[in-house]
Amino acid sequence: MDVLSYYLETYEACRKAFLSYKKQLKSKFARFDHECLEIPKGGGELDVYYLGEKKKPAKRLVIMSSGIHGVEGFAGSAFQRRWIEEFLLDDKSTYKLPKNSDFLILHGINAHGFKNFLRVNEKNVDLNRNFALKREKLHKKFKNKKYRKIQSFLNPGSEFGNFFFEYVFFIIRFLGVVIRFGAKYVLDAAVNGQYEFPKGIYYGGRKPEPVVRVLRKYFKKVLKPYDRILILDFHTGYGEKNGISLMQNAEKGSREDKNLKKVFGDFGLLLNEGEEDFYRTSGDFTDFFGKILAKEKDLFPITVELGTFGNLNVMGAIRGSFLMISENRIRFYGSKSESEADKVREEFKQMFYPNREDWRLAAMDHVFGIVPEAITRFSKL
Ligand SMILES: [Zn+2]
Repeated sequence: MDVLSYYLETYEACRKAFLSYKKQLKSKFARFDHECLEIPKGGGELDVYYLGEKKKPAKRLVIMSSGIHGVEGFAGSAFQRRWIEEFLLDDKSTYKLPKNSDFLILHGINAHGFKNFLRVNEKNVDLNRNFALKREKLHKKFKNKKYRKIQSFLNPGSEFGNFFFEYVFFIIRFLGVVIRFGAKYVLDAAVNGQYEFPKGIYYGGRKPEPVVRVLRKYFKKVLKPYDRILILDFHTGYGEKNGISLMQNAEKGSREDKNLKKVFGDFGLLLNEGEEDFYRTSGDFTDFFGKILAKEKDLFPITVELGTFGNLNVMGAIRGSFLMISENRIRFYGSKSESEADKVREEFKQMFYPNREDWRLAAMDHVFGIVPEAITRFSKL
């Protein structure tokens, strides 16, 4: 199959294609389960395939998840379906699928965002900032003072106007804020997430979102038999143009850090979010597992990020922030003209799901240059 044909244009098409493998998987694997997790309060449905070569659960499990950031699910879904079709189902494949590892494939964790081309969920929550929250009241450490200081810049509370003029005005304000506070300050303020402004960007919510509660319960049940768990969480948008980065949260020297080095170390792509010069996301999905599972388990959690238009240079950072801020602004405060709002929405979509063929091919090459090999290594540890 031409790899480009894995990329589909609507949530419904992705879901239908994902579900079309059910029968074949069921007949090929000794153990197969399709669960459709209903997420209460408008969170949609989350399809999960859980399968293995033997009737009894193996000791190792590979988790592949997509769509925590809704719109990023288009690419994630394409990778998952290619994995299923060419690696799990194709008998002529030259790849030797490890018999000692089970697979758990979660399709579209944020179904609402996926359907509507949004990063956030139905409550404007960035789920990757929400997985750390417990049932208790919000902890003090989640107060982001830097964010509060530049809140009016990040979340303008007025109608959106003309795209071009808004952009020019944004650049001027952006430079003003950077000159006043410094680039690192602004980056920290924005990307670390915040838990105070429900209408703002990078909002992590006030308590665990329904999907987090559903998954906590589900994982506690399903992950019990496994000693070793590899977690591949697919994302897009961050990083060099058409590039890939592997992002980890583990503390340097920790067991998890050592685990990850064994599997991913020599790809030369590991970025440690715990390190000083790199942003740390609190409430990350990959962190979640360490929090809910027994300490004896060996975890290998990684965020697989496919860079799209390149947001690491100054112009890229400005463009990216402008789109993030404007998309959010239009949702809450509207736009003077629908066509100007459409320009923002279209560019926003391109930032996370480009229709450029060069990007789509590069993303497939990157992911399949790493994932099969990483799974083989993991199975041999
Ligand atoms: Zn993401």
